[in-house]
Amino acid sequence: MRNQFLLTDVRLFAGVSDEVIDHASVWIDGRMIRFAGPSCDLPEVPGDVPRLDLNGRFVMPGMTESHAHLSYTNNGPTELDKTAVEPAMVQSIANARLMLGSGFTSAISFGSVHRIDVTLRDAIDRGQIPGPRLVASGRDVGATSSNADLHPDHARPQIEGLGMLVDGPWAVRRAVRTLRKNGADIIKLFLDGEGLSDHAPPGELTYTDEEVAAACDEAHRRNMRVACHSRSAAAVKQAVRFGVDVIGHANYLDDEAVEMLKRNRDRLAVGPAIAWEIKLLENCESMGYSRKAVEDKGYAREVDETVIAVRRMKEAGVRVLIGGDYGLNITPHGTYAKDLQYFVELFGMSPAEALLCATRDGGAVADPSGMVGTLEEGKLADLVVVDGDPLADVTVLQDHERLSVIKDGRRYRDLTRDNPYLEPLARGGANESVRQENLEPVLETSG
Ligand SMILES: [Zn+2]
Repeated sequence: MRNQFLLTDVRLFAGVSDEVIDHASVWIDGRMIRFAGPSCDLPEVPGDVPRLDLNGRFVMPGMTESHAHLSYTNNGPTELDKTAVEPAMVQSIANARLMLGSGFTSAISFGSVHRIDVTLRDAIDRGQIPGPRLVASGRDVGATSSNADLHPDHARPQIEGLGMLVDGPWAVRRAVRTLRKNGADIIKLFLDGEGLSDHAPPGELTYTDEEVAAACDEAHRRNMRVACHSRSAAAVKQAVRFGVDVIGHANYLDDEAVEMLKRNRDRLAVGPAIAWEIKLLENCESMGYSRKAVEDKGYAREVDETVIAVRRMKEAGVRVLIGGDYGLNITPHGTYAKDLQYFVELFGMSPAEALLCATRDGGAVADPSGMVGTLEEGKLADLVVVDGDPLADVTVLQDHERLSVIKDGRRYRDLTRDNPYLEPLARGGANESVRQENLEPVLETSG
């Protein structure tokens, strides 16, 4: 019999609105959702379909990490490309499993070391390794003296792996073509930089309009999308003007930038990725910067400005996405759901609004064909069962023990254990066969 099961007595957050439906059912048939809604509306389900009573547990769509760096290995921010490709690849496989176990069933990459993303995406799609559906990126595209230009000139030749330093429209087009050849779905462009980068601060555009136009035109002609790093209003406006699809950061906005985002809100989305600023301010001393130095570089003001920018984007109906820059030493893999807490506590959203950013909106951007992000008939069965109420306390999503993940109609177990193959001898035998055959122990391990 093909893969089918029925979840009953579900507290359903379908991701189509902020509504929650008590006493709901979800019928999964193959990879798809056959029904998700009030149990009183459930069509007749054949008697041989396995049923599982969830006793009122919360069920929500799988989330989307919309600014992912699965190939980052929890290094410092200036050491992103210092792990050799072999250990980075092995670590990335573990990162992909951890991301799925954290409740994120889709991810949009914002730059990959080497071709790791593409390799991961294909292995995940083949079912070889567990991980989110991945919109794969390649190496970063940036100009000489952009934020992709991480190392000083005396350290040349540069470490190969993350930044592709290309100048001039034709060189940019060639880089985009190389990424196409290497299998990327989306390209990452640096339009301005970072407070920590003296040579490329926010507001100083590192590409000319001509170069950005060439990058976006070439990517779109070759069926790829474009993501960018744009902190300042000027860099956001450059991104909107030339058709960037997913804008990262957008910390500082002026009226014109807000108006341009609003006019283009149906075709683009913005991810603030605020974890970076928050964790940098929290951990600056251990990273070798004084608090004053980091504030002098503008990071405290950047958080304040982002709060204003997110409020203005929300008022303008611009989709604001969850995720960003997890995979550094200060923002380690597995902590992705902290972003929802920032959306609530810092940006003033309700938990339901933050959940919609993570599910409906992120899903619509990750998969423009509309198959993920909500729990509705005919969509892919990507969902998370939560032991707790994220609408009362969104931080429950940070506790991996409380999450059970289903992707493509298949349940996964032990995603966040260091070694899922290692079974303690004392717990072997009969227990194991029960776990293989029955959903219930998996969904109830956290009870
Ligand atoms: Zn990033």
